[in-house]
Amino acid sequence: CGIVGYVGKQKAASIIIEGLKRLEYRGYDSAGVAVLQNDRIDVAKKAGRVEILAKEAARHRFTGTTGIGHTRWATHGGVTDANAHPHVSSDGKFALIHNGVIENYSSIKKFLLSKGYTFSSETDTEALVNLIAYHYQKEPAAEDKSRFLESVRRSLMHVEGTYGIAVICTDSPGELVAARKASPLILGVGDGEFIIASDVSALISRTQNVVYLKDGELVHLTGKNFSIITQSEEDVSPIVNKVTWSA
Ligand code: GLU
Repeated sequence: CGIVGYVGKQKAASIIIEGLKRLEYRGYDSAGVAVLQNDRIDVAKKAGRVEILAKEAARHRFTGTTGIGHTRWATHGGVTDANAHPHVSSDGKFALIHNGVIENYSSIKKFLLSKGYTFSSETDTEALVNLIAYHYQKEPAAEDKSRFLESVRRSLMHVEGTYGIAVICTDSPGELVAARKASPLILGVGDGEFIIASDVSALISRTQNVVYLKDGELVHLTGKNFSIITQSEEDVSPIVNKVTWSA
């Protein structure tokens, strides 16, 4: 339902939860946040309101500056803490948030179970985060490419359905990959920071400079820079727009 991702110098969790609150008006049943810290992923997620997540997050004392957060509107799997996003791959390397529906998730899941990946939710989404981990493990990218970006791009080639996603990886602190197909995604280009969101209202308090991602595009945030490619690896020249209204 709602996506917020952050890469910058500030503590990611509080900025993300603030963004999730601004998306509450869209409706949701669960909320969660994942932050990269000390080379691992720490997750807080809860069925219920963002306020409940905020209390849980306070107990985690998140300090990392790279993270993702989500408000879920369940389509596959009941409204439970385990089914809330973010979902983490069974090897612990990736965390992912997802809006939309992965229509062929059961065949992907079956394949991954046969390869030893394990699942802890009933969602369609968890198939995708494990597929990314599988590609990352199996097909190291050529040296001039990002292995992180490549594993997401290759995984999406096998996905049928709709998605707005944002992904973080323990091997790539300070980085985030996001992509969309038939689900909105906007990149906010701030002062030494990036915010990715499914709705401009979640990022407008931090920056007015935005890039509207198009269907089939992937964005790779790498600390100070960002780049956009298509599913078929063409470079996209981004157009930065100024949003003039304020929230
Ligand atoms: N299909 C996913 C789920 O049920 C994502 C739902 C959403 O867009 O919030 O968990």
